[in-house]
Amino acid sequence: MADQKLISLVIPVYNEAPNIPLLHQELIKHIDALPYQFEILFVDDGSSDNSAMAVDKLTETDNRVQLIQLARNFGKEAAVSAGLRSTQGAAAIIMDADLQMPPKLIGQFIRRWKEGAEIVIGVFAERNMSPLKRLGAHSFYWIMQTIAHSKITPNATDFRLLDRQVIQAFNSLTERNRITRGLIDWLGFKRSYVHFKQEARRYGQPTYTYRKLITLAVNSFTSYSLIPLKLAGYMGLFILTISIPAGLFMYVEKYLLDDPLNLLFSGTDMLAILILFLVGVVLACLGLIALYIAHIHAEVINRPLYVVRQSPTFITPAEVKGREPVKQTMRVEEALEG
Ligand code: UDP
Ligand code: MG
Repeated sequence: MADQKLISLVIPVYNEAPNIPLLHQELIKHIDALPYQFEILFVDDGSSDNSAMAVDKLTETDNRVQLIQLARNFGKEAAVSAGLRSTQGAAAIIMDADLQMPPKLIGQFIRRWKEGAEIVIGVFAERNMSPLKRLGAHSFYWIMQTIAHSKITPNATDFRLLDRQVIQAFNSLTERNRITRGLIDWLGFKRSYVHFKQEARRYGQPTYTYRKLITLAVNSFTSYSLIPLKLAGYMGLFILTISIPAGLFMYVEKYLLDDPLNLLFSGTDMLAILILFLVGVVLACLGLIALYIAHIHAEVINRPLYVVRQSPTFITPAEVKGREPVKQTMRVEEALEG
């Protein structure tokens, strides 16, 4: 049984050397005031600067700080998974190293957790980003909401608190192509949202380049659903429903009835419709293959059939009806005060 008084902080770090002492300062300012013990896990995701050294220096003065060093840059998703696996606390809070997620919200997160939330999710109320990224984010959430089965909250961040049982469930997931957010959403559990204003990044550039973001988006689409592949199948079916009647009509009109409508279909016309028909067949078969791949995919990622809640929490009927409990969200000002 995890220590009820211990909270783990998981912080993925990739080339954040100047931010680390700053973040630590901010952190202790807020966590020292809380009646909990903390462990601060920095996961160095193969940084090429002095990040690891900066964390190491902190360990000399603060025994709550720990360093996990990945052998190379595996990406934030992997770093977070590595961190979560090493946590000992009754709950873990994931946050970025660049101070974009205000440490002053930690107390608020813990309060929500104590009130019964098993997952507390930070949601951007306001986001500092370029118009291009904003457009990208909007279309991403629009597509995801259309194709995904589970509900996705736009602008939900990785700034999250997870209860021990959520961490355990998360650790049991074995898929490699992972989006932390998506997996946590899939797990379910009782969640609570805290809205906050995104701070500006302190030092350095966001390492999520457009290329990385696009890869992440494509990964999300393909790991959430097979719709992109099924679309080909639907297109095939669409082509077939047009080309079969059209082909039959042309054949009957020209050869069986000897062109009573005087449409003068040429051999090229017949060939065109034949090709269209064959393309339709091929695409429809692709869609069929998608169905098989869906089954294989489900077997391979080997998600648990279900996730069991160990300690019962009681959900009020109002919450069940509205899915999103009334008191779950709060204003930015409220959150920042807390
Ligand atoms: N990060 C990481 N590995 C990577 C890229 C980023 O661990 O390959 C960390 C980074 O140090 C930061 C967090 O993930 O703590 C978020 O990264 P960033 O600020 O670049 O992304 P954004 O704020 O644009 O989401
Ligand atoms: Mg950032």
